[in-house]
Amino acid sequence: MCGIVGYVGKQNAKAILVEGLHRLEYRGYDSAGVAFVRAGRLSVYKAQGKVAQMEALLPGRIGAQIGIGHTRWATHGAPSDVNAHPHTDTQGRVAVIHNGIIENAVALREELIASGIELVSETDTEILAHMIAAADQGNLMDALRKTLMRIHGAYGLAVISQDHPDQIVVARNGSPVVLGIGEKEMFVASDVAALVRHTQKVVYLDDGEIATLKRDGYEVVRLDASPATKTTATVDIDLEAFDKETYAHFTLKEIHDQPEVIERVLRGRCDHRFATARLDGLNLDPKAVLSIRRVKVLGCGSAYIAGSIGARMIESLARIPCDAESAAEFRYRNPIIERDTLYLAVSQSGETFDTLAAVEEIKRKGGTVLGVVNAVGSSIARACSGGVYLHAGAEVAVVSTKTFSATLIVFALIALLLGRTRDVSHAEGERLLKALHELPDLLRGELKREEEFAALAKRYSHFDHAYFIGRNAGYDLATEGALKLKEISYIHAEAYPASELKHGPLALISPTTPTVAIVPDDGLIAKNTATIEEIRSRQGPVLAITQVDDLDKTAQKDGGPLEILKVP
Ligand code: GLU
Repeated sequence: MCGIVGYVGKQNAKAILVEGLHRLEYRGYDSAGVAFVRAGRLSVYKAQGKVAQMEALLPGRIGAQIGIGHTRWATHGAPSDVNAHPHTDTQGRVAVIHNGIIENAVALREELIASGIELVSETDTEILAHMIAAADQGNLMDALRKTLMRIHGAYGLAVISQDHPDQIVVARNGSPVVLGIGEKEMFVASDVAALVRHTQKVVYLDDGEIATLKRDGYEVVRLDASPATKTTATVDIDLEAFDKETYAHFTLKEIHDQPEVIERVLRGRCDHRFATARLDGLNLDPKAVLSIRRVKVLGCGSAYIAGSIGARMIESLARIPCDAESAAEFRYRNPIIERDTLYLAVSQSGETFDTLAAVEEIKRKGGTVLGVVNAVGSSIARACSGGVYLHAGAEVAVVSTKTFSATLIVFALIALLLGRTRDVSHAEGERLLKALHELPDLLRGELKREEEFAALAKRYSHFDHAYFIGRNAGYDLATEGALKLKEISYIHAEAYPASELKHGPLALISPTTPTVAIVPDDGLIAKNTATIEEIRSRQGPVLAITQVDDLDKTAQKDGGPLEILKVP
């Protein structure tokens, strides 16, 4: 799902849309497009590639004060100029942009084709434009509403029409849509990042809602046409988060943000008197904590991986059975919801569709679910009965870095709180709090080694494949490492529990497949060393990231190259 931006008001829509699309570029996309209505005519410009390539197609002056813009991440049909959004009806009167997937698109396409309509793209989105145009009897919102009653699937979408030159109609089901309220102007976006420079007064649409935006206001209804009452929120976003300062890119900036973010996460949440954590938002009194028999952590991607490490912390400190599961897997397997299980939903954006669906499933079955969320006021935060905000600041880079570490710190605090109500002593609590407070400076020290890390990355950059291995939390970290390598460098990387390597994957170890081994200073050093030697005896290069001194003490002489990166 990618980006949506829209504007109706008195300013130059072109400039606002193009700037908004640039703000959404961090999400990764394959094509971009815009549509305007001016002098009663709809015009559409779109192209495969970067926003700048689409921008180059735009006339210098468009003079429109209403328009919509999109960045697409293809799900139906290859990235191409034709498949890029906006899509229009045959007469080119209605334009639609859409994030998400329409699940009954095939049947609806066939229906449209049978009625004589020629579909020009391969997307699921185009059908919407034809259906809305056909349903329009003078009320665009009604036309969209009737269309959506026939749609199954996920959408965040925006529509403009030359027959209704004063309005944008938007809808949400499973893909975020936020309205921005200005002075005699309205904005819409899939992410506050695209509108926060213009206004901080926003309204979050909920699933099943449709809004009509005109320059002097907005109206929200549900799919059945009943009016919906909405409250306005003020986005608490520090604009600096959207400025990459002197850093080459946002990922680098956010990596460097980490020490400060961790300080922020800890601020006000450490109770030194009782050597525990203070997390009032969880709404859990000690009695409630004692009645918890199990904890289940749910998330997707890096949130799931951070949650897996969190689950280990909770289990080891609080001695409550705890595990993490991909929210997407969970929601589709008809999970058993237990009354004495505490469910924790982890999400940076608070809009992760599968995690939100898992939260709804738990609630439907009577379970209690709390959120570990970064975006304040987001759908998951609102759906949970309590939780902890990460306070990591806006995450602009696609890959999670500071949010990943902030999530770990929040889990450490939750584990400490649950642990102190149960098994953990005052002295142990004090030791843990002290260790948490030492982390920011430790990280500052590590970030000074940036050049060393960059040189190391360069040495490994020519490989096409990599393994990441570890045991226990080291395995979770290995999983995050492999995910990062894939996402950022497009190098094939796989994570395995170190002990699983010998059950098959060792067959692929060779001088051209390096292994990154995570070796913490825990009780498993000897086990990890043995695995490293197994790899090296097959001439596989190993990069060991370790807290252990002299890891190479027992290394064989003639195996694959062993490089050691010592960390505190
Ligand atoms: N399913 C639509 C398409 O393939 C929208 C994808 C998106 O979310 O960008 O065009």
